[in-house]
Amino acid sequence: MSGRSDGCGRLEGKVAIITGAGRGIGEATARAFHREGARVVIAEIDAATGAAVAASLSPEGSSARFLPCDVRSADSVEAVASATLAAFGRIDVLVNNAGINVFHDPLETSEAEWRRCFDIDLDGVWRMSRAVLPAMLDQGHGAIVNIASTHSFSIIPGCFPYPVAKHGLLGLTRALGIEYAARGLRVNAIAPGYIETQIAIDYWNGFPDPEAEKRRAYELHPQKRIGKPDEIAMTALFLASDEAPFLNAACIVVDGGRSVLYHE
Ligand code: NAP
Repeated sequence: MSGRSDGCGRLEGKVAIITGAGRGIGEATARAFHREGARVVIAEIDAATGAAVAASLSPEGSSARFLPCDVRSADSVEAVASATLAAFGRIDVLVNNAGINVFHDPLETSEAEWRRCFDIDLDGVWRMSRAVLPAMLDQGHGAIVNIASTHSFSIIPGCFPYPVAKHGLLGLTRALGIEYAARGLRVNAIAPGYIETQIAIDYWNGFPDPEAEKRRAYELHPQKRIGKPDEIAMTALFLASDEAPFLNAACIVVDGGRSVLYHE
């Protein structure tokens, strides 16, 4: 059992890297994993938030560390993998969480905006995965959890090219999951619906009446609310743990049922 407060040791002994863990879903995931006994690496581009999350979990750095990480850079993600191995000796779990919203009308999407989106939301996931795969394959086990989106299979007009990248992320999840299944790896995705993080707040703030846009978002959902970061973190915890040994190349939708709701 984990000695950490409130946890049950569901990730005891495991080492997990979580990208974009300085805030939002990534932060909630890092906190949940740490509570459950994992040693966690906060791999974050924002040094202030990343260092603060790590320090709040483990001031002396023995069970949580901030490592600067920009998933747009192969050198940066390689450095994260190497430093994790140097600090903790293994990499059992990678949560590819870092992501950005890039929302445009297709014909108004510049080349630069297309590239900015793919560089982080799809290429960044592959880059970070490629950096940890050799260690996981050497160990003969590992779990990768990709934070996709309900945009991975549905389209909302005006949100281009984010769903294109997130559709690709499902393909990457399936390809890696099948490729390495016989060598002890599991690769799965979570498709969150609308989750109340800074990304959502920034989106509402882009409307003339942000409060009205927030209320509209709540009303779209069968439960008349949107999701919480912890609700994604708990699903990531399940997928990362030994409780899901036969779940591979799969995607769990966490959207309160919104994508099933029939619109008359
Ligand atoms: P968030 O609050 O914006 O957190 C994302 C974190 O990733 C931030 O700390 C951000 O740092 C960091 N980051 C950005 N670019 C990075 C890079 N190049 N390398 C490393 N880290 C980087 O977002 P969130 O809402 O928690 O979303 C997390 C994931 O869930 C994303 O993949 C998103 O697409 C997905 N998702 C979110 C929702 C939702 O409704 N919130 C729904 C479906 C899917 P900065 O703050 O410095 O940018």
